[in-house]
Amino acid sequence: MINQPETIIIVGAGHAGGRAALTLREEGFDGRLIMVGDEVHLPYERPPLSKGLLQGTAQLHSYSLCDAARLDQLAIEHIAGHSATRLDTERRELHLDDGRVLPYDGLLLATGGRARRLPQVPAHWPNVLYLRTHDEALLLRDHLQPGARLVVVGGGFIGLEVAATARALGCQVILLEAGERLAARVLPERLSAALLALHQEQGVDVRLAVKISAVLGAERAAAVQLADGSQLACDLLVVGIGMQPNVDLARAGGLDIGQGIQVDACLGTTAEGVYAAGDVCEFRLRPGSPFQRQETWRNAEAQGRHAALNLLGRQLPFSDLPAFWSDQFAWGLQTVGSTGNNAPDATRELPNGAFLLFYLDGDQRLQGVSGWGQGASIGKDIKLCERLILDGKVLSSTELADPGVSLKQLLRG
Ligand SMILES: Cc1cc2nc3c(=O)[nH]c(=O)nc-3n(C[C@H](O)[C@H](O)[C@H](O)COP(=O)(O)OP(=O)(O)OC[C@H]3O[C@@H](n4cnc5c(N)ncnc54)[C@H](O)[C@@H]3O)c2cc1C
Repeated sequence: MINQPETIIIVGAGHAGGRAALTLREEGFDGRLIMVGDEVHLPYERPPLSKGLLQGTAQLHSYSLCDAARLDQLAIEHIAGHSATRLDTERRELHLDDGRVLPYDGLLLATGGRARRLPQVPAHWPNVLYLRTHDEALLLRDHLQPGARLVVVGGGFIGLEVAATARALGCQVILLEAGERLAARVLPERLSAALLALHQEQGVDVRLAVKISAVLGAERAAAVQLADGSQLACDLLVVGIGMQPNVDLARAGGLDIGQGIQVDACLGTTAEGVYAAGDVCEFRLRPGSPFQRQETWRNAEAQGRHAALNLLGRQLPFSDLPAFWSDQFAWGLQTVGSTGNNAPDATRELPNGAFLLFYLDGDQRLQGVSGWGQGASIGKDIKLCERLILDGKVLSSTELADPGVSLKQLLRG
């Protein structure tokens, strides 16, 4: 029988932190369980922030991981609206911003990240908005009035989803992207092109390969000036240029940090009894592969759950397939496995403009798939592809590209 810790603290009451707390109780942990979060809300999932919440079709309670009664029932102490300011791994103590010092036996760092700021803009300008938290999303929603002139900085997923929602709400939208194509860091050309065509068709003015030289205004943003001298007047500027992992607490506590908090195969950090999970966690997907972070719903869910098991002494190596989705206008993009931004090994064209892009490894085994289609139309195919990846069968690019060969058939074959 493994010795159970008496007190477990979770820092960060977001998706991974919330999932870890619930899992600890589901797994029978009956010691003291504290979750510290600097947001005032119950743990929640973030994908609806750029979609349903802005559109007015989703509310916080519909994407919270649990309600307050459930936390009470499970005796999870939620210290909301407070940050952890110091981690003393020698004494196993966590310091909070109000002076409290909490001893722990096991600790999970699930501190996520914050939106990267645009350096050219004073922090207090009220019409320059970012999107990471529920409160930021509420503020943005108030500004998205029909006819509002919106400039979105950044052609990654957050920028694109905000542009799509704002356009659907009747805003005039200009989207600025520094790269030659949309989401070029993570998507192949075919998907960047599909996104561009969709946004243009829906009336978003997408400008690629642009450089911002200044944001003009007095006490609020009035226009964005580009390097070519042109000026784009705006009522609102939304900045979606990526996120910065919240590693300060861990760094000052002496933990190993790279692009995130570095962990071993079991999500354990370099401090004994301290684990990390979610967007802030830098891990190796396979033994020997390079460190990486994943900023996805699925990773927060899986690592939150997994870290909880290991806090209880299970010592289970973490493994999961990367997966991601994005919804824009009436279209959906989904990926599973290892994909990347290079050309795929095979492309399967599907009805109504949908398609699947397949990535094979050196042994012709499927390692990743991206799909594009209306609504959730490619969801079933992506699930079948996930099974094909896990199955590890040798496949030919010809049969993968042929819509006449069903994916189920490939699984059986
Ligand atoms: C707008 C938006 C849309 C998204 N859409 C998608 C999507 O469509 N598909 C998809 O797969 N993924 C999507 N994601 C990504 C996904 O939501 C994240 O990967 C996930 O939320 C990460 O969970 P986390 O628990 O690691 O971090 P978070 O959910 O960010 O939680 C971290 C929490 O820790 C708190 N914290 C930080 N430091 C401290 C401290 N010192 N003390 C106390 N508390 C602290 C933070 O304030 C935060 O509440 C989206 C993200 C955003 C922001």
